[in-house]
Amino acid sequence: MALNQVAFIGLGRMGVPMAANLLRAGIAVRGFDLAPNAGPELETLGTFTRAASAVEAARGSDLVILMLPDSKVVDALLWQGAPALAQALDPGALVVDMSSSDPMHSRDNAARLADLGLGFLDAPVSGGVKRAVDGSLSIMVGGEAAGFERATAVLQAMGKTIIHVGSAGAGHAVKALNNYVSASGLIAVSEALVAAEAFGIAPQLVNKVFNASTGKNNTTEHKVENFMLSGRYDSGFALSLMRKDVQTAADFITGMQTPNEFVQKCLAVATAAEQGLEPGADHTAVHKWVRRK
Ligand code: NAD
Repeated sequence: MALNQVAFIGLGRMGVPMAANLLRAGIAVRGFDLAPNAGPELETLGTFTRAASAVEAARGSDLVILMLPDSKVVDALLWQGAPALAQALDPGALVVDMSSSDPMHSRDNAARLADLGLGFLDAPVSGGVKRAVDGSLSIMVGGEAAGFERATAVLQAMGKTIIHVGSAGAGHAVKALNNYVSASGLIAVSEALVAAEAFGIAPQLVNKVFNASTGKNNTTEHKVENFMLSGRYDSGFALSLMRKDVQTAADFITGMQTPNEFVQKCLAVATAAEQGLEPGADHTAVHKWVRRK
C-alpha cells in the first residue's frame, strides 16, 4: 500500500531527527508536538505540515507515528479527549508507537485498536540522538506481519537494523530489556571509574583498558570520554527516561515471574540518582552523582 501521508506526533530530541529523515526520503509528514515550535528545521525539509493538534495531524493519515515520553502519554492521547486520537483515525490506519512504552499497555492498545479496525505496531528505537540524526537507528518491532510489511519502507527511512521480534508488545519488551542491560553497564562503569579515581588511577586510562578488555560496553565506547569525563553530561537521553525504561523492564521481568534481583537493584540506583540530580539531568550524569557521593 502506498503511504500518502504520515502523521508524526512527538517532535522532541528523537522525533525531530526521525521526522527529518522521513522528509528527506520523500515522505510527506504532518507533525504535532505540544511545544508549538518544536523542530523549526522541519519546515525547510520536504513536505512538512505542522498540525494544530494530534487529531488534526492524524486525520487522513495512513500511518501515525508516536514518539512520546511513555505509555501514560501514549494511552491518554489514544483514548482520552473528544475526539480521542483512536476515534479520529481513518479505517485501516496503522498506529506505530516508536516511544519506549510499556509492553503490557501496547498489547492492550493493539487489541483495542483492532476492535476499531485499526492496525498497531510497537516499534521502539535504540541508538540515541546521534543515530536518529544519521538514520541508523536499531528498531525492534512487535505486531502482525501485515502491519510490519506495510510500515517497513517508513521504518527503513529512520533505521538501519529493523527486526520483527514478535506479536504486539514484543518490541517494547525487548526495548525495555535492552535499556535495562545498557543502564546496568552505565551504572557499573560509573562506580568503577569513581573507585579507580579514588585509588589514584586516571579514569581515562581505566576506560582505555576497559575498551581493550572484556569490560567494554556501549558506555565505555561512546559515553565515558564524550559525556562523562568531559564533564558535559549532555548525551541527549534524559535520566528520567532511563529510569522509566528500567522501571518498565523491572515490571516486565517481575510479571514474567523470572529472577529479578539485579533489575530491582538497578532500578533502585537509577531512582536514587534521579532524585539526587537536578531535574532534567542527562542519564550520563549518573557518573557525576556517584562521584559526588
Ligand atoms: P523528549 O522529551 O525530547 O520528546 C518528547 C516530546 O513529546 C516532547 O517534545 C514533548 O513536548 C512531546 N509530547 C509530550 N506529550 C505530548 C502530547 N500529548 N502530544 C504531543 N506531543 C507531546 O524525549 P525523546 O528523548 O525524544 O524520547 C522520546 C521517546 O523515545 C521516549 O519514550 C524515550 O524513552 C525514547 N528514546 C529516547 C532516546 C534518546 O536518546 N533521547 C533513545 C531511544 C529511545
